[in-house]
Amino acid sequence: MKQKIAIVGAGIIGMSAARVLQRAGADVIVYDPEEPGAICSFGNAGNIAIDHVRPLSRLDVLATVPRMLMDPLAPLCLKPAGLPAAWPWLWRAAVASRPSQVQRGTAGLAALLGAARAAWDDEIKLSGLEDLFRTEGALVVYEQPASLTATAADAQILRDHGVRVDMLSADRINQLVPGLARPAAGGRFYPDAAHTIDPRGIVTRLAERFVAEGGTIRRERVTGFLQADGRVAGIQTPVRAETVGAVVLASGLASRPLAEQLGARTPIGGERGYHVVLQNGPALDLSVTFAERGFIATPMRMGVRLAGTVELGAGTDPDWRRAEALLHHMRTLYGRDDLAEASRWTGDRPTLPDYLPMLGASPKARNAIFAFGHQHIGLTLAAVTGRLVRDLVLERPVALDLSACRTDRFGRL
Ligand SMILES: Cc1cc2nc3c(=O)[nH]c(=O)nc-3n(C[C@H](O)[C@H](O)[C@H](O)COP(=O)(O)OP(=O)(O)OC[C@H]3O[C@@H](n4cnc5c(N)ncnc54)[C@H](O)[C@@H]3O)c2cc1C
Repeated sequence: MKQKIAIVGAGIIGMSAARVLQRAGADVIVYDPEEPGAICSFGNAGNIAIDHVRPLSRLDVLATVPRMLMDPLAPLCLKPAGLPAAWPWLWRAAVASRPSQVQRGTAGLAALLGAARAAWDDEIKLSGLEDLFRTEGALVVYEQPASLTATAADAQILRDHGVRVDMLSADRINQLVPGLARPAAGGRFYPDAAHTIDPRGIVTRLAERFVAEGGTIRRERVTGFLQADGRVAGIQTPVRAETVGAVVLASGLASRPLAEQLGARTPIGGERGYHVVLQNGPALDLSVTFAERGFIATPMRMGVRLAGTVELGAGTDPDWRRAEALLHHMRTLYGRDDLAEASRWTGDRPTLPDYLPMLGASPKARNAIFAFGHQHIGLTLAAVTGRLVRDLVLERPVALDLSACRTDRFGRL
């Protein structure tokens, strides 16, 4: 009989894992009260960001925080009202900024990101996603010569961790990104990066293929687990208790209560981001990060999408001034006051304070596999996470060293 596996969460991580486990011969059931891809996976920047090997909890990033907090257009914003609730996360992030820990974290992320592009290439073929991806690489534009010079050490760290980085002259950048009213000082090109023209569309397509090939999606919230003898024996929803052979916890930012039932202290926090889709954006062939302004412009099916900003301590209501700041930046960069918004969105990145996902067996049940906390790179890491989850669930040898992603690294409960 096929092994029955429950996946909690139908975001990009859960649906990627569902597809891989299905192909491995398992009977997979995905639970989510929402439509697939309706939460954080809906509105991201679409970048297969293989360059994000450095955790953002670092001393050099912390040093820029006071200056950014003074600037309403800066990529980072800390909401005073949310500070008491965000404080434990911030404290842990500061602790995680110790150079030795950053070094371990960089190695951990580099291992995952080094396998990310090949995993997506494979999944694109197997799930028929070719029309949703563009593989021209990605650009980073620097406006100030001083910022370009200051990033030389960063580029070297990326290269040391296997990321191909080409430095581009100002002339080359201005050819590749025509129309900038503020000519670039120079930039970088990541030849192995890629982007999608429809982030939500990928999750929808994966879900459609999953169901077409025999998978089940139940629109139900998982509320708990039936545990016996160090294993999960079943899952509980408001309408049923279902016996399962293994569980994958891929519920993004909402994973904490379920992960804590499975024995892991889980200080996950939301880093709120925003996007604005332009009605009349400039012509772009590939995704472009504007480094000093901290946002990405990605050409998508629905228009050029501007995405970014990190808001910590956010309440329930969006602060749409953060989305308007993205539009303001783009108008300034292109000297085009006519750039107009077609739609806007906000979502909370699921981020653990050390910027590593939890990826591995839970402390209390070895057949409960955690796959959440993918911070700014959940789309990028989804396909490789799916493959690692398969090996963890089926107790096969795992190809990568996942020690930095241990599920008990913040403590056991
Ligand atoms: C502005 C912005 C830009 C970004 N840009 C990029 C980018 O360019 N590249 C990149 O790689 N990443 C990017 N990201 C990050 C990426 O979007 C996330 O890391 C990713 O979407 C996380 O996916 P997920 O499946 O873990 O979470 P989600 O998409 O949030 O899915 C989790 C699912 O679990 C479900 N769930 C929760 N609780 C339960 C429960 N109890 N029972 C059942 N289901 C449950 C939820 O309903 C949800 O559908 C960006 C994020 C933002 C906000």
